[in-house]
Amino acid sequence: MTDHTQYLSDAVTRIRPSGIRKFFDLASSMDNIISLGVGEPDYTTPWNIREASISSLERGFTSYTANAGLPELREEIARYLTEQFQTSYSPEDEVIVTSGASEAIDLAMRATVNPGDEVLVVEPSFVSYAPLVSLIGGVPVPVPTSIENGFKVTPEAIQDRISDRTKAILLCFPNNPTGTVMTSDELESVAAIVKQHDLLVFSDEIYAEMTYDAPHVSVPALQGMRDRTVLISGFSKAFAMTGWRLGYVAAPEPLASGMLKIHQYAMMCASTMAQYGAIEALQNGREEMLEMVESYRQRRNFFVGALKDIGLDCHTPGGAFYAFPSIRSTGLTSEQFAEKLLFAQRVAVVPGNVFGEGGEGHVRCSYAASLSQLEQAVDRMDRFIRSL
Ligand code: PMP
Repeated sequence: MTDHTQYLSDAVTRIRPSGIRKFFDLASSMDNIISLGVGEPDYTTPWNIREASISSLERGFTSYTANAGLPELREEIARYLTEQFQTSYSPEDEVIVTSGASEAIDLAMRATVNPGDEVLVVEPSFVSYAPLVSLIGGVPVPVPTSIENGFKVTPEAIQDRISDRTKAILLCFPNNPTGTVMTSDELESVAAIVKQHDLLVFSDEIYAEMTYDAPHVSVPALQGMRDRTVLISGFSKAFAMTGWRLGYVAAPEPLASGMLKIHQYAMMCASTMAQYGAIEALQNGREEMLEMVESYRQRRNFFVGALKDIGLDCHTPGGAFYAFPSIRSTGLTSEQFAEKLLFAQRVAVVPGNVFGEGGEGHVRCSYAASLSQLEQAVDRMDRFIRSL
């Protein structure tokens, strides 16, 4: 029989499938599961956004859009970024609408990273970053953070991992999986070392709207950072639009036109009907979005408090919808903890080790679930920990 793996590229052979998927597949084959595993809102997209998309179909807007996206949507994105996060981008040539923030991350890497270039990845991190760097022959270099300093990245930790080959650093605040946010002072000190070493920044700000204690600080809005930052964001989280596959990337014109070259060949354009929905989201979606954010805040307050009450050390996440408690006191590895919890009490969480350096000893729990599910989940976790 043909060994088909012989046809796979070296790059594909090198990377491993996402560790999160493995757990999803297991959990979805079981009954009576409370899943805190998925990284997506528990809301359906607000109706006015869905209606705008339906209406675009009814009106027959079913063709490709411009490669970079509908001009009206790019204008709305630029306006929104300025109003909400004090950044300034030209909608004509500095904003590209993408198939999710996922494509935006891929474009940013592929347009700038050469084989052998090192990309610093602040970890624990979203699972896509390091494999995407590897796929193009770059070298992902973890910059670890830990619960001791609330999973904030320090200039010292960055300095430690910088080499002659370092080209860029990937930042994501509010963070997946830790929920950590950084203050503008803290980001300024990171920016200082970035400037000193002439690095490019990929800033994944997909959770920007979901901050609970202080307004979001956008990296390109910091003094001198717009010129060296590729801003990545999208509609999946704040507007509950994960299935729409719509995001965007904003960067200085030469970088944006580099990314556009890849996007036009690989993707042509993002989904047209989704783009019409996104215009509505930015024009009229704020009120409902803020209501959703408020409900995540309430759930965070309950859930993190409850985790602490059952004896788990958990820093208070300032954003996104994840808690990342330490499970070290149980003596189990994060994989053992997640697997045993799933089989013994039917609660699905994600083992921290899949998020890279600094993730072991923790599990990621998404609190984008109903309060009653969260209450039950904590009861079950309590029972599980006592049984050990
Ligand atoms: N970045 C981060 C940090 C994420 O958590 C996610 C989704 N889990 C993405 C990007 C991808 O988002 P999208 O649905 O827009 O591709």
